Amino acid sequence: MEIPFFIYRHTSMTEDKDNLLKDFKCQRCGACCRWPGDVRVTEEEQNAIAARLNMNINDFLQQYTRLTADRRGLSLIDNEHGHCIFYSTEEGCRINSVKPQQCVNFPYHWTNPGWEKLCAGAQNLSRIKLVRVRTVE
Ligand code: SF4
Ligand code: SF4
Repeated sequence: MEIPFFIYRHTSMTEDKDNLLKDFKCQRCGACCRWPGDVRVTEEEQNAIAARLNMNINDFLQQYTRLTADRRGLSLIDNEHGHCIFYSTEEGCRINSVKPQQCVNFPYHWTNPGWEKLCAGAQNLSRIKLVRVRTVE
């Protein structure tokens, strides 16, 4: 299912965001794998994922990719719940060792509106920061 409203984007981190993310620790909650939108895959990544799945590249492209919303590249498809096709509630990312750079880069090099409300790592970090602020007040 293609949901075009999500905008994958690179943002320049503000100084505040840099500070916030300095101690960011992913909690592996999987929220970023369940959001709608493009998971861009470069040609190199397509080949790596196909190899990991022991699939012929053409079969992989046909079965697991679609055009991105801007029609400039390829994205992994969603499953029936609107999650990334490779996300599993039990296992997390099923292609973790070869996941696309877009996934590796979140939230350090790109974010989407409201991410901090859903990302468990951000929520934990905010609580810790809050305690620190109260301590020094
Ligand atoms: S490829 Fe893996 S890390 Fe990336 S969105 Fe899909 S399940 Fe998540
Ligand atoms: S939403 Fe945040 S904490 Fe959850 S898996 Fe993604 S980066 Fe990690």
